[in-house]
Amino acid sequence: MTSAANFRELRLDGMQRAFGNLNALKGIDLRISRGEFIALLGPSGCGKSTALNCLAGLLPLTGGSIWLDDRRIDTLRPEERGFGMVFQNYALFPHMTVRRNVAFGLMMKGVPKAEAAKRVEEALATVRLQAQAEKLPGQLSGGQQQRVAIARAIVIEPPLVLMDEPLSNLDAKLRLEMRAEIRRIHEGLGSTTIYVTHDQEEALSLADRIVVMREGEIRQVGTPQELYAQPAHLDVADFMGYRN
Ligand code: ADP
Ligand code: MG
Repeated sequence: MTSAANFRELRLDGMQRAFGNLNALKGIDLRISRGEFIALLGPSGCGKSTALNCLAGLLPLTGGSIWLDDRRIDTLRPEERGFGMVFQNYALFPHMTVRRNVAFGLMMKGVPKAEAAKRVEEALATVRLQAQAEKLPGQLSGGQQQRVAIARAIVIEPPLVLMDEPLSNLDAKLRLEMRAEIRRIHEGLGSTTIYVTHDQEEALSLADRIVVMREGEIRQVGTPQELYAQPAHLDVADFMGYRN
C-alpha cells in the first residue's frame, strides 16, 4: 500500500484550544516531517487528546493554525483532512464483519468496489487479520479488535495516522505485542504517525521523537536518546524516572 500523501512537513503554529477559562493548549509550536513516528507524552489532563482532536479537526482551534507544507488545514473539516484515527475504545461496528468494518470508510468515500476490495485485503494483511475477515468484532480478542481499528485507519491511506492511547485497554502482554506491531505497520507503510500516550516506556520504544507535554505546553522535544541523556527540565527527569 502506498500513501498518496506527499507532504514534506506538518506544522503546528501556536495551536491553542480553550474550554471556557481553561487553556487546554497554550500555544503549541511543532514541526513534524513526513515519515516520522512522534509520541505525545505526558500525564493525564496535560492536553494530549485535545491536541490530537484539534489535528483531526474534531475540535476547532481557539488560536493559531495547522499547516501541511504551505496549505493551511485547520479550517478544513475532518473528512477533508482525511487523517486516520485510532482511539482507545476502538468503536467498531458490532453488526458488521471485520472486512466490512475495514471497508466502510472506502465505501463512504465512493472508492470503486474492486479497488476497495483490494485495499481492504492489503490492510487486513498488514495487520495480519486475513483469517478473521468474516468474523464479527465480538468474536475477536481485544488485541484483534484494536488491529481492526488500525486497519480501518490505514486503509484510507491517510497522510497522517493519529492514535490516542490505542493500547491502554489491553493487558500487559498484548500491549507489548501490539507495540511491536504498530511500529512494524508504521515502517511497512512509511506513514507519519502521531501517537498519544502517558506511558514513557511506550514512547521511548516506539517513537523517533518524543514531545513531552505538561499543562497544555510542550516541555521538551527530542529523540528517545536525547531525552534520556539530557532531560532539560526537572519535570522531565522526574517523569523519566531519574528522581526518587
Ligand atoms: P489528556 O488527553 O492529556 O489526558 P485532555 O486533552 O483530555 O488531556 O484534557 C486537557 C484538559 O482539558 C483537561 O483539564 C480536561 O479536563 C480539559 N478538557 C478536555 N476536553 C474538554 C471538554 N470537552 N470540555 C471541557 N474541558 C475539557
Ligand atoms: Mg487523553
